[in-house]
Amino acid sequence: MAKEIKRQIRTRIAPSPTGMLHVGTARAALFNELFARKQGGEFVLRIEDTDRQRSEKKFEQDVLTGLKWLGLEWDEGPDIGGKYGPYRQSERGEFYRAALQQLIDDERAYQVPHGEAIVFRVSEEEIVFTDLIRGTVKVPTSSWGGDFIVARSMNDPLYHLAAVVDDQLMQISHVIRGEDHLTNTARHILLQRSLAYETPQYAHLPLLLDEGRRKLSKRAGDVSLLSYRDKGYLADAMLNYLALLGWNPGGQEEYFTHEELVRSFNLSKVQKGGAIFNQVKLTSMNKHYLQELDEDKLLDWGKKYLLLDQKKNHELLGMEEGRLKAALKTEQGRLSTYHELEVLLDWARPSWAGEYKSDLLIWRESTAADTINYLSALAEEFKLMGNSDWVEETLTPRILSWIRARNWHNGAVLWPMRVALTGRENSPGPFAVAVVVGKTETVTRLELAHKKLQDSISGE
Ligand code: GLU
Repeated sequence: MAKEIKRQIRTRIAPSPTGMLHVGTARAALFNELFARKQGGEFVLRIEDTDRQRSEKKFEQDVLTGLKWLGLEWDEGPDIGGKYGPYRQSERGEFYRAALQQLIDDERAYQVPHGEAIVFRVSEEEIVFTDLIRGTVKVPTSSWGGDFIVARSMNDPLYHLAAVVDDQLMQISHVIRGEDHLTNTARHILLQRSLAYETPQYAHLPLLLDEGRRKLSKRAGDVSLLSYRDKGYLADAMLNYLALLGWNPGGQEEYFTHEELVRSFNLSKVQKGGAIFNQVKLTSMNKHYLQELDEDKLLDWGKKYLLLDQKKNHELLGMEEGRLKAALKTEQGRLSTYHELEVLLDWARPSWAGEYKSDLLIWRESTAADTINYLSALAEEFKLMGNSDWVEETLTPRILSWIRARNWHNGAVLWPMRVALTGRENSPGPFAVAVVVGKTETVTRLELAHKKLQDSISGE
């Protein structure tokens, strides 16, 4: 009985460095990587820089940085100081020349008269192939309008030829790429047949759409992967979100680590219809991941982003590190991107002077007169406390029983305390904030609030 020889699983991502790494390419890279890892296969990175006019090193760098940021590592490539560099088509001209020569020798392609371009002969037929996501796909060659160019010259191959040669030489078993490549695949199959190559298995991923169900483009917002890093999205959150773009894990769970994704990923659960890139969903996912960070990682994250605008954030950055760490921790549950950071941490600045309206100090069931009384009583009580009591575990029960002993209402006292310390309607609890800013500043802020409210009453 003939033994079936199973091909080693090998996938690739083959970006053209003609723009910043697109989130759609990052998603394709992830699916290729997950598919290979799950089956103990290999994942290859190939930079398709045959278009010399449009390819730029800075875009190649953006691809490499983006993939590394997501933690997508490729398994082979030219040695660059003990690490794997990417394969670059610009460095593989000899292979394309050989294939072009073979096509010409076999009369499958011809050089245009009086020119250098090489044209592949197309006969009228229907190319049929099985797509792992879409099933049977049929593409009539008549839809292309005849023969097509595969190289501008022997030294200048075009995408179709270079991709086909490389998929063969790199022994790619599965080509997983965007739906926009469906008709290219038919051309590639024709080329493979003419060159007596193997045909890999194909899987075409659903397009990424914006919320208006149009093809995701710059018009609808950022499409560059690293622009999300720069806005404070965490790599783990981004990776998790990208995995859900067109792949349905089944079940309720939507949070997956990279390893969990490797274990659960399955091409059969990739949908055919377009996948909507939903910023709100991505942001809420990021919020979840931010909440999971330990305090050191949270501090690193916060500092990194505050440093982007040192001038504006000099006061927060100049604070004692412990204070910044503690402030970040109290706001951890409210952070979803870098965007909110400055606003949420504003109260933590030592020179914060409370730009809030005095009315905000009054709890909904309380009065201005009572609030004035609570604010000064709190300030006096705090002055009596020792610095060693200035920790949440001591401060909280002490003030709560102090309120109870006076028959006051927690809300009526703690609401103005919190507003006096943060100026916000929604903020972390008053004790947590008091501990971050310290006893002296707490008292100063209560006195300031007291004065503010008193002034507003006497001004009436
Ligand atoms: N260089 C092509 C692109 O960036 C990749 C196509 C492929 O995966 O074969 O769209």
